[in-house]
Amino acid sequence: MPTLPAYDDVRAAAERLQGYAHRTPVLTSRTIDREMGAKLFFKCENLQRMGAFKFRGAFNALSRFDERQRRAGVVTYSSGNHAQAVALSASLLGIPATIIMPNDAPAAKMAATREYGGNVVTYDRYTEDREQIGRALAEERGLTLIPPYDHPDVIAGQGTAARELFEEAGELDALFVPLGGGGLLSGSALSARALSPRCALYGVEPEAGNDGQRSFRSGEIVHIETPKTIADGAQTQHLGVLTFEIIRRDADDILTASDAQLIACMRFFAERMKLVVEPTGCLGIAAARAMKDTLKGKRVGVILSGGNVDIARLGAWLGQ
Ligand SMILES: *Cc1c(COP(=O)(O)O)cnc(C)c1O
Repeated sequence: MPTLPAYDDVRAAAERLQGYAHRTPVLTSRTIDREMGAKLFFKCENLQRMGAFKFRGAFNALSRFDERQRRAGVVTYSSGNHAQAVALSASLLGIPATIIMPNDAPAAKMAATREYGGNVVTYDRYTEDREQIGRALAEERGLTLIPPYDHPDVIAGQGTAARELFEEAGELDALFVPLGGGGLLSGSALSARALSPRCALYGVEPEAGNDGQRSFRSGEIVHIETPKTIADGAQTQHLGVLTFEIIRRDADDILTASDAQLIACMRFFAERMKLVVEPTGCLGIAAARAMKDTLKGKRVGVILSGGNVDIARLGAWLGQ
């Protein structure tokens, strides 16, 4: 197992991202503060470049490539946002990118990946193993595989979002972070433990796929079938080896949210804050709302992890 990244790596990633990633706003809402009886701080990674925090991890990882790696190129697999993040980072750094995507990925995400210059290879997410396809391509063509979450440079890059949140909002009593494979949560943990050590840290995953919760509570990485949920950014089948070590050490608990709760939160953001947040991006706030009684009077951070959603689907959900 490679060494676990530490807060110093998050700081180094923040320097590499300077001038490339947006420093996204931290927004507040009196409506939600009244509803919750608490003070909430939303870190708006839905307004990040390519529409999600994943630009941070991908750019950090690719900017550490040596000359040979840059020339040969990068390969990755992703249900969407990591694909766009790698494609955009690669094009900014002049590195060729091959992206393995599920054939049922949202059309907008696939088109955006191609527009950013990524060479897209598709697979069937219910019958084929994307990690195996990625490893094979890496070996055959000498490409460097940058996985979506289980990589020290990816984790360190993702941690820069929470770092900016603490820099701006100060210490917090609780932080809610969407959870798929755990890159965002483990990176956030490094920043939280360094900048706000008493902050309770919660990962939130879809109710339909609570492998992270089961892993956290049992102490072993639990593997599941691809869960059926509208939170397509968190349809992961298991946590990573590195991400699990950090989450197990630093997180306080893993919570879940249902698709119905996510839709209610998307409606809140659209109506009250004029924000488009994708279903996965609503996991944190959905769990915080369900914990209202415990959070009374507290200062609460919530990471809105992304905003990439098919507009026709968003319209259908909001019209329900
Ligand atoms: C990838 C993703 C997540 C989950 O991140 P992990 O690092 O896999 O835990 C959450 N929200 C959005 C919008 C994502 O794209």
